[in-house]
Amino acid sequence: MHELSMADAIVRTVIDAAEKNDAVEVLEVTVEIGQMTLLNPEQIKFMLDVLSEDTILEGARFNIEVVPVEIECTCGYEGAVDTDELNHLAPVVSCPSCGGHEFHVRAGRECNVKNIKIEKRD
Ligand SMILES: [Zn+2]
Repeated sequence: MHELSMADAIVRTVIDAAEKNDAVEVLEVTVEIGQMTLLNPEQIKFMLDVLSEDTILEGARFNIEVVPVEIECTCGYEGAVDTDELNHLAPVVSCPSCGGHEFHVRAGRECNVKNIKIEKRD
């Protein structure tokens, strides 16, 4: 399961960061998920809650920010693409201007921990 392994990686990243910063508690975690990852934000959120049980993350608030896909195409088009048809069977997008696939994906592939709010030891 795609979501589970991502959620697991996120939890480990946050625990690691919390320990390095002498945290006693993690209050809030903001995660950026690109639309192109095809990850389901609701499922990620649910799994983060489950995986954080009995860790320093227990009770933390998870915010999921979905990042829309943006491309820079060789035809000169720059910007958003239609992702309505994006799914696990057809995980590709095409340029809305020329219909091609020769482009650089500027945004939409991320799956990062963007921000962590912690309570520090005195
Ligand atoms: Zn194009």
